[in-house]
Amino acid sequence: MTDILKLIKDKDPVEKEFHQAVEEVLVSVQPVLDRNPQYRQEAVLERITEPERTIIFRVPWMDDQGQVQVNRGFRIQMNSAIGPYKGGLRFHPSVTLSILKFLAFEQVFKNALTTLAMGGGKGGSDFDPKGKSDNEVMRFCQSFMTELFRHIGPNTDVPAGDIGVGAREIGYLFGTYKKLHNEFTGVLTGKSLGWGGSLIRPEATGYGSVYFAAEMLATKNETLEGKTCLVSGAGNVSQYTVEKIIELGGKVVTLSDSSGYIYDEEGIDSGKLDFVKRLKNIKRGRMHEYIDKYSEAVYTEADSSLDHNPLWDHKADCAFPSATENEINQKDATNLMNNGVKLVCEGANMPSAPEAINIFLDKKILYAPGKASNAGGVAVSGLEMAQNSMRLSWPAEEVDQRLKIIMKNIHQTCLDAASEYGTPGNYMAGANIAGFTKVVNAMLDQGLV
Ligand code: NDP
Repeated sequence: MTDILKLIKDKDPVEKEFHQAVEEVLVSVQPVLDRNPQYRQEAVLERITEPERTIIFRVPWMDDQGQVQVNRGFRIQMNSAIGPYKGGLRFHPSVTLSILKFLAFEQVFKNALTTLAMGGGKGGSDFDPKGKSDNEVMRFCQSFMTELFRHIGPNTDVPAGDIGVGAREIGYLFGTYKKLHNEFTGVLTGKSLGWGGSLIRPEATGYGSVYFAAEMLATKNETLEGKTCLVSGAGNVSQYTVEKIIELGGKVVTLSDSSGYIYDEEGIDSGKLDFVKRLKNIKRGRMHEYIDKYSEAVYTEADSSLDHNPLWDHKADCAFPSATENEINQKDATNLMNNGVKLVCEGANMPSAPEAINIFLDKKILYAPGKASNAGGVAVSGLEMAQNSMRLSWPAEEVDQRLKIIMKNIHQTCLDAASEYGTPGNYMAGANIAGFTKVVNAMLDQGLV
């Protein structure tokens, strides 16, 4: 294990996030490697940690002042052993090769857990849609797709949204792909309903995360009814996480964006959530505007000089980190434990630092890793691909029912794999083991390619 990790670190020393994601999986799958010596003989670790293909490209575009801007575009085609590459596009100034490689690596195992035929990929750009006009976003998306289109396709690689890429961006990207290929096809998921999107896709990651939390609580004969929940972020995943928690009788008291967070002790009810949806999705405003409307809430500005995030320092039963990677550090995890949190369900990808995860595992709380608990989004993307292939669309109830079943199955798969390898109740180990085993077996079946 240390050999392969050293190899990866020596090869790409600056890719810290990628190293973090790989190390977590390598630790979890040690017992699998010990029980299956052929995996080592066939160098599966060396193969699975190397992307099948990495595409990096220039994205020139013109801003509203007539000034030429240049961003960097990426697509990591990580693993296609069990299906076409599948994974989102992220537009955010923090995007680097390391961030996208970690996300693509996680995506491989997540997609395997859904049981749908999807390989893993991820892409994006260091472009920041925040503060840009619709026309600027459109010109950027058109330029981005002018290169990406030659590398993707409905049976090759099917991107979706992620941070900074929502329905608006998917629309511009799809329009450009269609024009360049002269083909109307399911090459992107997260499309709008009127032209090939699936009902419940916008809701899927947040709903799925809460379904997973409910499954975990059920193992203790508990429900979300009456539980106080901390949710971070205020984007797609957070909004529908809040919606489902409210529906199941829980109370959400926080939401955030990168500028700060709100704490609403009375709870964010459906009316307040509608306000947040309008604020974020239509007005593209900031979270501090919440207190202008709801003066009972308190807004705290983000402060990078602090050694912890005060959002995680409130009395609560459950936490749903749903903004971004490494948003819970060791101190935050300690604060969560001291405040009575007994369940952490990750809506974001890798939001908990390794030291934080160790605390959750030591304290034996219910801890769900993102690659299991946020898999509902890509699962419904898989269902969107299926509907596109059949040229029909399923009703919302049907998609939601399928999503529920998929999340229930992922939960059980994690528990079964964890028990089989001697770590009962460890969802992280279970998710890594189950995803890894499925993908490497497919790789071995297909020979050395
Ligand atoms: P959105 O862009 O819709 O929302 C992201 C939210 O997180 C915004 O409120 C944003 O604030 C905040 N945020 C982003 N970066 C940072 C940062 N560096 N520090 C603090 N806050 C930040 O993205 P999604 O809701 O789609 O994605 C959230 C997470 O969920 C990501 O980790 C993503 O990879 C993961 N995920 C998403 C899926 C999906 O279906 N959308 C599927 C599976 C996982 P601001 O507006 O200020 O930037």
